[in-house]
Amino acid sequence: MTRIVVVGSINMDLVTVAPRFPAPGETLLGDRFLSVHGGKGGNQAVAAARLGADVHMVGAVGDDAFAQSLRDGLKQENVDVSHVTIIEHCSSGTASITVAGGENEIVVMPGANAQLLPSHVIKAQHLIASADAVLVQMEIPLQTVEATLRTAHAHHVPVILNPAPAQQLPVEWLKLARYITPNQHELATLLGADPTEDFHRLMRDAPCPVVLTRGAEGAWFREEGEPQHQSGFAVEAVDSTGAGDTFNAAFAVFLHEGLPVAVRKACAAAALSVTRLGARGGMPHPAEVNALLA
Ligand code: ADP
Repeated sequence: MTRIVVVGSINMDLVTVAPRFPAPGETLLGDRFLSVHGGKGGNQAVAAARLGADVHMVGAVGDDAFAQSLRDGLKQENVDVSHVTIIEHCSSGTASITVAGGENEIVVMPGANAQLLPSHVIKAQHLIASADAVLVQMEIPLQTVEATLRTAHAHHVPVILNPAPAQQLPVEWLKLARYITPNQHELATLLGADPTEDFHRLMRDAPCPVVLTRGAEGAWFREEGEPQHQSGFAVEAVDSTGAGDTFNAAFAVFLHEGLPVAVRKACAAAALSVTRLGARGGMPHPAEVNALLA
């Protein structure tokens, strides 16, 4: 069984559907409300577990009413939460989302995710050392991202950095990543380059191998030489939330089969994820991925 360690964020998404966005100072009555478990870290952990991996989450929740539900949500998906720390006197990460007329407005409150520290990564280093791959994103402190890259690299475990949300990182850190998995905007920001720069060129300039996602067009990947293209799988798109998270999870789970196979399976899994509502709602099981690949 492939063992994956995910170091990242865990959020409660609080979604209100409203007839329109309120003006500053205005109170509106909404049409519908739902709370769903999210955060890039939690989402990638769940997607990897659905694909059959043995998944361990390194993360943090607060000591509020959301904390238990967030941990239980991961456990129900067979994600090990023994390294999900409870931070006292702290709120869990939240995303307050208002949806109106097909657009959304989002305020993310990092809460406990901002208290996930390098020491938590060090505590989990025995897990990292025995992992087949480690996944990390950037909704946690950058010093914790660095600690994850260094720990995995020191144990010769491939670490996949999903550089989202977009921020620039030191080149020395990027050299520790086995792969980075940005979209075009994230890659430009990460490298401190012009966002309109040709993405083939950005991929060649990056200090580590790149797997670049391009929505319905699929993905491009480069270890050395020229970037290669993997076409997207044609599906009826319903909701693209969570496509990137599913892509990263599948890429980590199937990486031991080699780069081109892992990218192909990641595109298939991510395509399936856009056919259903919600970030976690569409994350597929292996049989569905195999059926799409057949
Ligand atoms: P992000 O939301 O992080 O920018 P993308 O939109 O590039 O990520 O999506 C990640 C991956 O999901 C893509 O590389 C592709 O494989 C898959 N994907 C996204 N949208 C579609 C779609 N409409 N049809 C098929 N595959 C899709």
